[in-house]
Amino acid sequence: MADPIKDREAAADALERVFRAAGPYLDGLPELPVHDRAADALADDLGGPLPEKGDGTLAAVEHLLRVGTKASTRTSGPRFFHLVVGGATPAAMAGDWITSLLDQASGLHIASPLASRAESVVLDWLKDLFGIPASYGGVLTPSATLAHVTGLACARTWWAEGHGVDVASQGLAGLPVMPVFTSGLVHPSTRKALQILGCGRDTLRTFARDDTGRIDLPALEAALVELEGAPAVLVGNLGDVHSGDSDPLDAMADLAERHNAWLHVDGAFGLFAAVSPRTVGLASGVERADSITSDGHKWLNVPYESGFSFVRDPALQVRAFGAWGASYLPEAEGGHVDFNTVGPESSRRARAFPIWATLRAYGRDGYREMVERHLDVAEHLGRLVDESPDFELLAPVRMSIVCFRHRPPGVPDDRLDELNGRLGEALLRDGRVYAGTATYRGMKVLRCALVNWRTTAPDVELLLTVLREVAADLEP
Ligand SMILES: *Cc1c(COP(=O)(O)O)cnc(C)c1O
Repeated sequence: MADPIKDREAAADALERVFRAAGPYLDGLPELPVHDRAADALADDLGGPLPEKGDGTLAAVEHLLRVGTKASTRTSGPRFFHLVVGGATPAAMAGDWITSLLDQASGLHIASPLASRAESVVLDWLKDLFGIPASYGGVLTPSATLAHVTGLACARTWWAEGHGVDVASQGLAGLPVMPVFTSGLVHPSTRKALQILGCGRDTLRTFARDDTGRIDLPALEAALVELEGAPAVLVGNLGDVHSGDSDPLDAMADLAERHNAWLHVDGAFGLFAAVSPRTVGLASGVERADSITSDGHKWLNVPYESGFSFVRDPALQVRAFGAWGASYLPEAEGGHVDFNTVGPESSRRARAFPIWATLRAYGRDGYREMVERHLDVAEHLGRLVDESPDFELLAPVRMSIVCFRHRPPGVPDDRLDELNGRLGEALLRDGRVYAGTATYRGMKVLRCALVNWRTTAPDVELLLTVLREVAADLEP
Protein backbone atom coordinates (compact mmCIF):
# COMPACT_ATOMS: atom_id res chain seq x y z
CA MET A 1 0.00 0.00 0.00
CA ALA A 2 1.26 3.49 -0.73
CA ASP A 3 -0.60 6.71 -1.46
CA PRO A 4 -3.79 6.99 0.67
CA ILE A 5 -5.77 7.96 -2.42
CA LYS A 6 -5.61 4.34 -3.47
CA ASP A 7 -7.34 3.40 -0.24
CA ARG A 8 -10.05 6.05 -0.14
CA GLU A 9 -12.87 3.48 -0.24
CA ALA A 10 -11.68 2.28 3.18
CA ALA A 11 -12.42 5.52 5.05
CA ALA A 12 -15.90 4.64 6.33
CA ASP A 13 -14.89 1.02 6.82
CA ALA A 14 -12.02 2.11 9.08
CA LEU A 15 -14.42 4.07 11.25
CA GLU A 16 -16.73 1.08 11.32
CA ARG A 17 -13.86 -0.96 12.86
CA VAL A 18 -13.46 1.66 15.56
CA PHE A 19 -17.20 1.66 16.15
CA ARG A 20 -17.25 -2.12 16.49
CA ALA A 21 -14.43 -2.00 19.04
CA ALA A 22 -16.14 0.76 21.01
CA GLY A 23 -19.00 -1.32 22.41
CA PRO A 24 -16.85 -3.99 24.06
CA TYR A 25 -14.32 -1.39 25.27
CA LEU A 26 -16.96 0.77 26.94
CA ASP A 27 -18.75 -2.28 28.36
CA GLY A 28 -15.48 -3.37 29.95
CA LEU A 29 -14.82 -0.09 31.74
CA PRO A 30 -16.94 -0.79 34.83
CA GLU A 31 -15.51 -4.29 35.30
CA LEU A 32 -11.91 -4.45 34.12
CA PRO A 33 -8.93 -3.21 36.11
CA VAL A 34 -7.95 0.41 35.55
CA HIS A 35 -4.64 -0.84 34.30
CA ASP A 36 -3.32 -4.26 33.39
CA ARG A 37 0.45 -4.23 33.86
CA ALA A 38 0.74 -7.45 31.90
CA ALA A 39 -0.61 -5.64 28.84
CA ASP A 40 2.11 -2.96 28.96
CA ALA A 41 4.41 -5.12 26.86
CA LEU A 42 1.82 -5.02 24.07
CA ALA A 43 2.73 -1.39 23.47
CA ASP A 44 6.08 -2.68 22.15
CA ASP A 45 4.04 -3.93 19.25
CA LEU A 46 3.73 -0.31 18.11
CA GLY A 47 7.50 -0.13 17.65
CA GLY A 48 9.81 -1.03 14.81
CA PRO A 49 11.20 1.03 11.96
CA LEU A 50 9.17 3.40 9.82
CA PRO A 51 7.37 1.14 7.33
CA GLU A 52 8.66 1.52 3.77
CA LYS A 53 5.45 0.09 2.35
CA GLY A 54 2.41 0.78 4.47
CA ASP A 55 0.10 -1.97 5.71
CA GLY A 56 -2.99 -0.24 4.34
CA THR A 57 -5.77 1.59 6.15
CA LEU A 58 -7.70 -1.29 7.66
CA ALA A 59 -4.66 -3.25 8.79
CA ALA A 60 -3.13 -0.22 10.49
CA VAL A 61 -6.39 0.69 12.21
CA GLU A 62 -6.94 -2.89 13.36
CA HIS A 63 -3.36 -2.97 14.67
CA LEU A 64 -3.81 0.19 16.74
CA LEU A 65 -7.16 -1.02 18.08
CA ARG A 66 -5.76 -4.42 19.00
CA VAL A 67 -2.93 -2.89 21.03
CA GLY A 68 -4.78 0.17 22.27
CA THR A 69 -7.89 -1.46 23.66
CA LYS A 70 -5.75 -3.79 25.76
CA ALA A 71 -2.80 -1.63 26.80
CA SER A 72 -4.70 1.59 27.53
CA THR A 73 -5.08 2.91 31.05
CA ARG A 74 -8.84 2.94 31.57
CA THR A 75 -8.89 6.49 32.89
CA SER A 76 -12.33 6.94 31.38
CA GLY A 77 -13.72 4.23 33.66
CA PRO A 78 -15.21 4.81 37.12
CA ARG A 79 -12.20 3.91 39.30
CA PHE A 80 -9.37 6.22 38.23
CA PHE A 81 -9.02 8.55 41.22
CA HIS A 82 -5.36 9.49 40.66
CA LEU A 83 -4.49 13.08 39.59
CA VAL A 84 -7.70 14.86 38.51
CA VAL A 85 -9.00 12.97 35.49
CA GLY A 86 -12.49 13.02 34.10
CA GLY A 87 -14.03 10.57 31.67
CA ALA A 88 -16.07 11.31 28.57
CA THR A 89 -19.85 11.39 28.72
CA PRO A 90 -21.55 9.46 25.91
CA ALA A 91 -22.54 12.68 24.16
CA ALA A 92 -19.08 14.23 24.60
CA MET A 93 -17.35 11.18 23.19
CA ALA A 94 -19.64 11.11 20.16
CA GLY A 95 -19.12 14.86 19.79
CA ASP A 96 -15.39 14.20 19.76
CA TRP A 97 -15.78 11.66 16.94
CA ILE A 98 -17.79 14.26 15.05
CA THR A 99 -14.89 16.69 15.55
CA SER A 100 -12.61 14.26 13.73
CA LEU A 101 -15.23 13.44 11.09
CA LEU A 102 -15.78 17.09 10.18
CA ASP A 103 -12.12 18.04 10.76
CA GLN A 104 -12.76 21.77 10.92
CA ALA A 105 -10.00 24.36 11.05
CA SER A 106 -11.50 26.36 13.88
CA GLY A 107 -9.01 29.21 14.18
CA LEU A 108 -10.57 31.40 11.51
CA HIS A 109 -14.23 32.15 10.93
CA ILE A 110 -13.69 32.07 7.17
CA ALA A 111 -12.41 28.49 7.36
CA SER A 112 -15.32 27.25 9.46
CA PRO A 113 -18.22 29.55 10.38
CA LEU A 114 -19.72 26.42 11.97
CA ALA A 115 -16.83 25.86 14.38
CA SER A 116 -16.54 29.56 15.20
CA ARG A 117 -20.27 29.77 15.95
CA ALA A 118 -20.19 26.59 18.04
CA GLU A 119 -17.29 27.95 20.08
CA SER A 120 -19.11 31.22 20.76
CA VAL A 121 -22.19 29.26 21.82
CA VAL A 122 -20.38 26.92 24.21
CA LEU A 123 -18.40 29.76 25.78
CA ASP A 124 -21.71 31.55 26.44
CA TRP A 125 -23.22 28.36 27.89
CA LEU A 126 -20.20 27.76 30.10
CA LYS A 127 -20.26 31.33 31.44
CA ASP A 128 -23.95 30.87 32.22
CA LEU A 129 -23.28 27.52 33.91
CA PHE A 130 -20.60 29.02 36.17
CA GLY A 131 -22.24 32.39 36.84
CA ILE A 132 -19.56 34.34 34.95
CA PRO A 133 -20.86 37.58 33.41
CA ALA A 134 -21.85 37.22 29.74
CA SER A 135 -19.65 40.20 28.84
CA TYR A 136 -16.45 38.20 29.48
CA GLY A 137 -14.36 37.08 26.55
CA GLY A 138 -13.23 33.51 26.27
CA VAL A 139 -11.46 30.89 24.24
CA LEU A 140 -11.22 27.11 24.26
CA THR A 141 -7.74 25.79 24.96
CA PRO A 142 -6.17 22.33 24.98
CA SER A 143 -5.81 22.33 28.78
CA ALA A 144 -5.92 24.38 31.95
CA THR A 145 -2.18 25.01 31.59
CA LEU A 146 -2.81 26.69 28.23
CA ALA A 147 -5.79 28.51 29.76
CA HIS A 148 -3.31 29.85 32.36
CA VAL A 149 -1.05 30.92 29.52
CA THR A 150 -4.02 32.70 27.98
CA GLY A 151 -5.20 34.46 31.13
CA LEU A 152 -1.73 35.29 32.39
CA ALA A 153 -0.65 36.56 28.96
CA CYS A 154 -3.58 39.00 29.19
CA ALA A 155 -2.47 39.87 32.72
CA ARG A 156 1.08 40.44 31.45
CA THR A 157 -0.20 42.68 28.64
CA TRP A 158 -2.22 44.73 31.13
CA TRP A 159 0.66 44.89 33.58
CA ALA A 160 3.19 45.99 30.95
CA GLU A 161 0.78 48.63 29.68
CA GLY A 162 0.76 49.92 33.26
CA HIS A 163 4.52 50.44 32.75
CA GLY A 164 3.94 52.06 29.37
CA VAL A 165 5.15 49.07 27.35
CA ASP A 166 3.37 47.10 24.61
CA VAL A 167 4.74 43.70 25.56
CA ALA A 168 3.22 41.93 22.52
CA SER A 169 5.39 44.09 20.31
CA GLN A 170 8.40 44.98 22.47
CA GLY A 171 8.79 41.96 24.74
CA LEU A 172 9.74 42.07 28.41
CA ALA A 173 13.24 43.53 28.13
CA GLY A 174 13.69 46.56 30.35
CA LEU A 175 10.64 45.86 32.47
CA PRO A 176 10.85 44.97 36.16
CA VAL A 177 9.88 41.47 37.33
CA MET A 178 6.08 41.08 37.15
CA PRO A 179 4.90 40.66 40.75
CA VAL A 180 2.69 37.55 40.98
CA PHE A 181 1.30 36.68 44.41
CA THR A 182 -0.71 33.64 45.49
CA SER A 183 -1.36 31.23 48.37
CA GLY A 184 0.22 27.88 49.15
CA LEU A 185 -2.65 26.19 47.28
CA VAL A 186 -1.15 27.11 43.91
CA HIS A 187 -0.89 24.37 41.29
CA PRO A 188 2.46 23.81 39.49
CA SER A 189 0.79 24.65 36.17
CA THR A 190 0.64 28.32 37.19
CA ARG A 191 4.42 28.31 37.53
CA LYS A 192 4.68 26.56 34.19
CA ALA A 193 2.57 29.24 32.52
CA LEU A 194 4.79 31.95 34.05
CA GLN A 195 7.86 30.10 32.83
CA ILE A 196 6.42 29.88 29.29
CA LEU A 197 5.52 33.58 29.34
CA GLY A 198 9.05 34.64 30.22
CA CYS A 199 7.98 35.90 33.64
CA GLY A 200 9.94 33.19 35.42
CA ARG A 201 8.36 30.45 37.47
CA ASP A 202 10.34 31.21 40.62
CA THR A 203 9.22 34.82 40.73
CA LEU A 204 5.87 33.63 42.10
CA ARG A 205 5.53 34.59 45.79
CA THR A 206 3.29 32.50 48.03
CA PHE A 207 1.64 33.84 51.17
CA ALA A 208 0.52 30.99 53.41
CA ARG A 209 -0.43 31.27 57.03
CA ASP A 210 0.32 27.62 57.86
CA ASP A 211 1.31 24.28 56.37
CA THR A 212 -2.12 23.75 54.79
CA GLY A 213 -1.15 26.48 52.33
CA ARG A 214 -4.17 28.63 53.19
CA ILE A 215 -3.69 32.25 52.28
CA ASP A 216 -2.20 34.84 54.63
CA LEU A 217 -4.28 37.83 53.56
CA PRO A 218 -2.60 40.46 55.77
CA ALA A 219 0.85 39.45 54.48
CA LEU A 220 -0.47 39.53 50.91
CA GLU A 221 -1.94 42.97 51.46
CA ALA A 222 1.32 44.21 52.97
CA ALA A 223 3.18 43.07 49.86
CA LEU A 224 0.68 44.91 47.66
CA VAL A 225 1.01 48.07 49.76
CA GLU A 226 4.78 47.92 49.28
CA LEU A 227 4.25 48.20 45.52
CA GLU A 228 2.72 51.65 46.04
CA GLY A 229 0.12 51.25 43.32
CA ALA A 230 2.38 49.62 40.73
CA PRO A 231 0.38 46.88 38.99
CA ALA A 232 0.54 43.29 40.25
CA VAL A 233 -1.09 39.94 39.58
CA LEU A 234 -2.90 37.80 42.15
CA VAL A 235 -3.62 34.12 41.55
CA GLY A 236 -6.63 32.73 43.42
CA ASN A 237 -6.91 28.98 43.66
CA LEU A 238 -10.39 27.51 43.47
CA GLY A 239 -9.96 23.81 44.28
CA ASP A 240 -6.57 22.56 45.45
CA VAL A 241 -5.65 19.09 44.26
CA HIS A 242 -4.52 17.81 47.69
CA SER A 243 -7.42 18.83 49.89
CA GLY A 244 -10.02 20.51 47.67
CA ASP A 245 -9.38 23.71 49.66
CA SER A 246 -9.89 27.12 48.04
CA ASP A 247 -8.74 30.68 48.46
CA PRO A 248 -11.27 33.36 49.54
CA LEU A 249 -11.82 34.82 46.10
CA ASP A 250 -14.07 37.66 47.24
CA ALA A 251 -11.44 38.91 49.67
CA MET A 252 -8.78 38.61 46.97
CA ALA A 253 -11.00 40.51 44.52
CA ASP A 254 -11.32 43.27 47.14
CA LEU A 255 -7.54 43.44 47.48
CA ALA A 256 -7.13 43.46 43.72
CA GLU A 257 -9.53 46.38 43.42
CA ARG A 258 -7.88 48.34 46.20
CA HIS A 259 -4.30 47.83 45.04
CA ASN A 260 -4.35 47.89 41.24
CA ALA A 261 -3.97 44.14 40.86
CA TRP A 262 -5.20 41.66 38.27
CA LEU A 263 -7.01 38.64 39.74
CA HIS A 264 -6.45 35.37 37.89
CA VAL A 265 -8.37 32.33 39.17
CA ASP A 266 -7.34 28.70 38.72
CA GLY A 267 -10.61 26.77 38.74
CA ALA A 268 -9.33 23.81 36.71
CA PHE A 269 -11.85 21.55 38.41
CA GLY A 270 -13.02 23.80 41.27
CA LEU A 271 -15.01 26.12 39.04
CA PHE A 272 -17.62 23.37 38.99
CA ALA A 273 -18.35 24.22 42.64
CA ALA A 274 -20.44 27.01 41.10
CA VAL A 275 -22.77 24.41 39.57
CA SER A 276 -24.31 23.28 42.89
CA PRO A 277 -25.98 25.43 45.53
CA ARG A 278 -24.15 23.21 48.06
CA THR A 279 -20.74 24.50 46.98
CA VAL A 280 -21.41 27.72 45.08
CA GLY A 281 -20.19 29.73 48.07
CA LEU A 282 -16.66 28.40 47.50
CA ALA A 283 -16.66 30.04 44.07
CA SER A 284 -18.05 33.34 45.30
CA GLY A 285 -15.93 36.14 43.84
CA VAL A 286 -14.92 34.27 40.69
CA GLU A 287 -17.35 36.49 38.79
CA ARG A 288 -15.09 39.42 39.74
CA ALA A 289 -11.87 37.87 38.44
CA ASP A 290 -9.99 39.36 35.50
CA SER A 291 -9.15 35.95 34.08
CA ILE A 292 -10.38 32.46 34.87
CA THR A 293 -8.97 29.05 33.98
CA SER A 294 -10.91 25.80 33.85
CA ASP A 295 -10.74 22.37 32.29
CA GLY A 296 -13.16 20.46 30.09
CA HIS A 297 -11.32 17.15 30.43
CA LYS A 298 -11.82 17.05 34.19
CA TRP A 299 -15.25 17.69 35.72
CA LEU A 300 -17.00 18.49 32.44
CA ASN A 301 -16.15 14.94 31.31
CA VAL A 302 -15.14 15.86 27.77
CA PRO A 303 -12.31 13.85 26.16
CA TYR A 304 -8.77 15.26 26.12
CA GLU A 305 -7.79 17.92 25.16
CA SER A 306 -10.23 20.44 26.54
CA GLY A 307 -9.78 23.58 28.62
CA PHE A 308 -11.17 27.10 28.61
CA SER A 309 -10.13 30.58 29.57
CA PHE A 310 -12.42 33.51 30.36
CA VAL A 311 -11.14 37.08 30.37
CA ARG A 312 -13.06 40.03 31.74
CA ASP A 313 -11.79 42.47 29.08
CA PRO A 314 -12.01 40.70 25.69
CA ALA A 315 -9.97 43.47 24.04
CA LEU A 316 -6.94 42.37 26.07
CA GLN A 317 -7.14 38.93 24.46
CA VAL A 318 -6.79 40.54 21.05
CA ARG A 319 -3.89 42.71 22.23
CA ALA A 320 -2.13 39.68 23.71
CA PHE A 321 -2.75 37.24 20.86
CA GLY A 322 -4.03 39.06 17.77
CA ALA A 323 -2.39 41.13 15.09
CA TRP A 324 0.12 38.64 13.89
CA GLY A 325 0.53 40.66 10.76
CA ALA A 326 0.07 37.79 8.31
CA SER A 327 -1.42 39.45 5.27
CA TYR A 328 -3.44 36.46 4.08
CA LEU A 329 -5.43 36.32 7.31
CA PRO A 330 -8.78 38.00 6.74
CA GLU A 331 -10.17 40.30 9.38
CA ALA A 332 -13.24 38.89 11.06
CA GLU A 333 -16.38 40.89 10.50
CA GLY A 334 -19.93 41.05 11.75
CA GLY A 335 -19.31 39.69 15.23
CA HIS A 336 -17.62 36.64 13.77
CA VAL A 337 -14.76 35.61 15.99
CA ASP A 338 -11.43 34.42 14.69
CA PHE A 339 -10.50 32.36 17.71
CA ASN A 340 -6.85 32.22 16.73
CA THR A 341 -6.63 35.94 17.51
CA VAL A 342 -7.84 35.52 21.10
CA GLY A 343 -5.77 32.58 22.30
CA PRO A 344 -2.33 30.99 21.99
CA GLU A 345 -3.07 28.59 19.15
CA SER A 346 -3.22 29.22 15.42
CA SER A 347 -4.58 26.15 13.65
CA ARG A 348 -6.77 24.18 16.03
CA ARG A 349 -9.46 21.52 16.06
CA ALA A 350 -13.13 22.30 16.68
CA ARG A 351 -12.91 21.76 20.40
CA ALA A 352 -16.42 23.14 20.84
CA PHE A 353 -18.28 20.13 19.40
CA PRO A 354 -17.91 17.67 22.31
CA ILE A 355 -18.65 20.48 24.78
CA TRP A 356 -21.73 21.49 22.79
CA ALA A 357 -22.92 17.87 22.63
CA THR A 358 -22.56 17.21 26.35
CA LEU A 359 -24.14 20.50 27.47
CA ARG A 360 -27.00 20.02 24.99
CA ALA A 361 -27.49 16.43 26.15
CA TYR A 362 -27.47 16.90 29.92
CA GLY A 363 -27.99 20.61 30.52
CA ARG A 364 -27.52 22.54 33.71
CA ASP A 365 -29.60 20.02 35.70
CA GLY A 366 -27.58 17.05 34.51
CA TYR A 367 -24.32 18.70 35.51
CA ARG A 368 -25.66 19.76 38.87
CA GLU A 369 -26.80 16.19 39.55
CA MET A 370 -23.42 14.78 38.52
CA VAL A 371 -21.46 17.25 40.63
CA GLU A 372 -23.72 16.59 43.63
CA ARG A 373 -23.32 12.84 43.19
CA HIS A 374 -19.55 13.34 43.36
CA LEU A 375 -19.91 15.54 46.45
CA ASP A 376 -21.97 12.73 48.04
CA VAL A 377 -19.54 9.98 47.03
CA ALA A 378 -16.58 12.02 48.32
CA GLU A 379 -18.37 12.59 51.64
CA HIS A 380 -19.19 8.88 51.79
CA LEU A 381 -15.54 7.94 51.30
CA GLY A 382 -14.50 10.54 53.86
CA ARG A 383 -16.93 9.04 56.38
CA LEU A 384 -15.74 5.48 55.72
CA VAL A 385 -12.13 6.58 56.19
CA ASP A 386 -12.94 8.52 59.33
CA GLU A 387 -14.77 5.57 60.89
CA SER A 388 -11.99 3.09 60.06
CA PRO A 389 -9.47 2.21 62.73
CA ASP A 390 -6.80 1.68 60.04
CA PHE A 391 -7.27 4.85 57.97
CA GLU A 392 -6.97 8.50 58.90
CA LEU A 393 -8.73 11.40 57.20
CA LEU A 394 -6.24 14.28 56.84
CA ALA A 395 -8.39 17.13 55.56
CA PRO A 396 -12.11 17.84 55.69
CA VAL A 397 -13.74 16.55 52.51
CA ARG A 398 -14.23 19.55 50.24
CA MET A 399 -15.69 19.31 46.79
CA SER A 400 -14.61 16.00 45.34
CA ILE A 401 -11.17 15.50 46.89
CA VAL A 402 -10.46 13.03 49.69
CA CYS A 403 -7.06 13.19 51.41
CA PHE A 404 -6.14 10.40 53.84
CA ARG A 405 -3.54 7.83 54.81
CA HIS A 406 -3.26 4.29 55.99
CA ARG A 407 -2.57 4.19 59.71
CA PRO A 408 -2.75 0.64 60.98
CA PRO A 409 -2.77 0.35 64.78
CA GLY A 410 0.66 -0.33 66.21
CA VAL A 411 2.71 1.23 63.41
CA PRO A 412 4.88 4.05 64.78
CA ASP A 413 4.31 7.54 63.34
CA ASP A 414 7.76 7.78 61.82
CA ARG A 415 7.08 4.71 59.67
CA LEU A 416 3.84 6.05 58.15
CA ASP A 417 5.32 8.02 55.26
CA GLU A 418 7.30 5.08 54.02
CA LEU A 419 4.34 2.73 54.50
CA ASN A 420 1.94 4.96 52.57
CA GLY A 421 4.48 5.49 49.80
CA ARG A 422 4.84 1.74 49.34
CA LEU A 423 1.09 1.28 49.61
CA GLY A 424 0.51 3.82 46.84
CA GLU A 425 2.95 2.00 44.57
CA ALA A 426 1.39 -1.38 45.37
CA LEU A 427 -2.08 0.00 44.65
CA LEU A 428 -1.03 0.99 41.14
CA ARG A 429 0.64 -2.40 40.62
CA ASP A 430 -2.61 -4.08 41.63
CA GLY A 431 -4.46 -1.94 39.10
CA ARG A 432 -8.09 -2.51 40.13
CA VAL A 433 -8.46 1.04 41.49
CA TYR A 434 -6.14 4.01 41.02
CA ALA A 435 -5.46 6.67 43.62
CA GLY A 436 -2.39 8.86 43.95
CA THR A 437 0.11 9.65 46.64
CA ALA A 438 1.24 13.17 47.42
CA THR A 439 2.95 15.14 50.14
CA TYR A 440 0.49 17.15 52.20
CA ARG A 441 1.48 19.04 55.35
CA GLY A 442 4.75 17.14 55.31
CA MET A 443 3.03 13.74 55.28
CA LYS A 444 2.91 11.12 52.55
CA VAL A 445 -0.79 10.82 51.84
CA LEU A 446 -3.22 9.03 49.58
CA ARG A 447 -5.51 11.26 47.65
CA CYS A 448 -8.56 10.71 45.46
CA ALA A 449 -10.21 13.05 43.01
CA LEU A 450 -13.75 11.99 42.09
CA VAL A 451 -14.74 13.69 38.87
CA ASN A 452 -15.71 10.86 36.52
CA TRP A 453 -19.39 10.74 35.56
CA ARG A 454 -19.42 6.94 35.98
CA THR A 455 -18.19 6.91 39.58
CA THR A 456 -20.63 5.80 42.30
CA ALA A 457 -20.31 4.76 45.96
CA PRO A 458 -19.33 1.09 45.35
CA ASP A 459 -16.28 2.30 43.40
CA VAL A 460 -14.85 4.15 46.39
CA GLU A 461 -15.80 1.30 48.74
CA LEU A 462 -13.72 -0.97 46.51
CA LEU A 463 -10.78 1.42 46.94
CA LEU A 464 -10.67 0.78 50.69
CA THR A 465 -11.13 -2.97 50.19
CA VAL A 466 -8.25 -3.09 47.72
CA LEU A 467 -6.03 -0.89 49.88
CA ARG A 468 -6.52 -3.26 52.81
CA GLU A 469 -5.79 -6.32 50.68
CA VAL A 470 -2.71 -4.76 49.18
CA ALA A 471 -1.50 -3.51 52.58
CA ALA A 472 -1.84 -7.00 54.03
CA ASP A 473 0.59 -8.28 51.36
CA LEU A 474 3.21 -5.56 51.93
CA GLU A 475 6.46 -6.47 53.62
CA PRO A 476 6.25 -5.13 57.18
C1 LIG B 1 -5.24 19.73 36.51
C2 LIG B 1 -5.02 21.06 37.08
C3 LIG B 1 -4.32 22.04 36.37
C4 LIG B 1 -3.65 21.79 35.05
O1 LIG B 1 -4.56 21.32 34.12
P1 LIG B 1 -4.12 20.68 32.73
O2 LIG B 1 -5.40 20.51 32.02
O3 LIG B 1 -3.46 19.38 33.10
O4 LIG B 1 -3.17 21.59 32.07
C5 LIG B 1 -4.23 23.30 36.95
N1 LIG B 1 -4.76 23.56 38.15
C6 LIG B 1 -5.42 22.64 38.86
C7 LIG B 1 -6.01 23.01 40.18
C8 LIG B 1 -5.59 21.36 38.35
O5 LIG B 1 -6.27 20.43 39.04
